[in-house]
Amino acid sequence: MKSLFSSAMIDRRGWQRSDSQRIEAYKHCDRSRFILWFEGKLLQGVSRGFYFTASEYPDAAGSEPVYLGHHDGCAYFTAELGQLPSAFDNHRLTGLRAACIGVDALERTLLFHARGMLNWHQRQAFCSFCGHLMQSTHAGHARQCSNPDCARIHYPKIDPAVIFSVTSEQQGTPKILLARKKEWDDHRYSVLAGFIEPGETPEDSVAREAYEETGLTVREVEYIAAQPWPFPDALMLGFSCRTDENDITLLDGELERAAWFSADEIEQGLARERFQMPFEQSIAWYLINRWFAEIKGYDLPRTS
Ligand SMILES: [Zn+2]
Repeated sequence: MKSLFSSAMIDRRGWQRSDSQRIEAYKHCDRSRFILWFEGKLLQGVSRGFYFTASEYPDAAGSEPVYLGHHDGCAYFTAELGQLPSAFDNHRLTGLRAACIGVDALERTLLFHARGMLNWHQRQAFCSFCGHLMQSTHAGHARQCSNPDCARIHYPKIDPAVIFSVTSEQQGTPKILLARKKEWDDHRYSVLAGFIEPGETPEDSVAREAYEETGLTVREVEYIAAQPWPFPDALMLGFSCRTDENDITLLDGELERAAWFSADEIEQGLARERFQMPFEQSIAWYLINRWFAEIKGYDLPRTS
């Protein structure tokens, strides 16, 4: 997927996470960088963007920093601040989607990794076995129950989901199925998606979701690429598939509308601003663009 998201660029050093002395040394190293959040938004400085030094990391931080890994000799940490110190008065707070516009693949990977870890810490405050408070351990990559009779260790959870393009050929014209939910912005469309259920393979899930949401029977389900999706904790597995059917029936009521579009209709809709594509750094956009570019020979017009 053109390295849009590849954690291979970060050396996660999982074997060092239980070495608390080493992690502590990284935390105080001048070269280390901290990605800081407040109320789920990124703290953005004036000069170095989203990165803060160890000396800038506030004493009264909210959560224990999570060690993300190393890149180019720098250790990267992330933390959610419990309050915003006055030293940060002139800094901006930026949502993750907005922050990803214009940043490179390494930075997107770091920001998505950071948010995914913090989302898990926030949701795993209490032990799901006994209800006691949990504490961060292993440099933030595990949480342990504070009840000595339980002491269970919980590890970060992700929810696998499928996201997929459905295409067909109608009277000689290639078309793609795009859909929208009622709560989305006006004119915004995307491909279909849904969570994988227990007992399903991802391919089963694509076929089931396609049928439940649109009544279509699909074939040639093919894996394309994946993307971590920390909104709050999904791993999106991207597929393409085809169908020989054209009639759409919104069986489960999850969608407000689903319809077939040609590449020309998408291009014209975007030009007239009567059509809005998904977030450009998303696998949804990638899947639509992959189909569009194959037909037109060039990428979708950039709108964000
Ligand atoms: Zn417990």
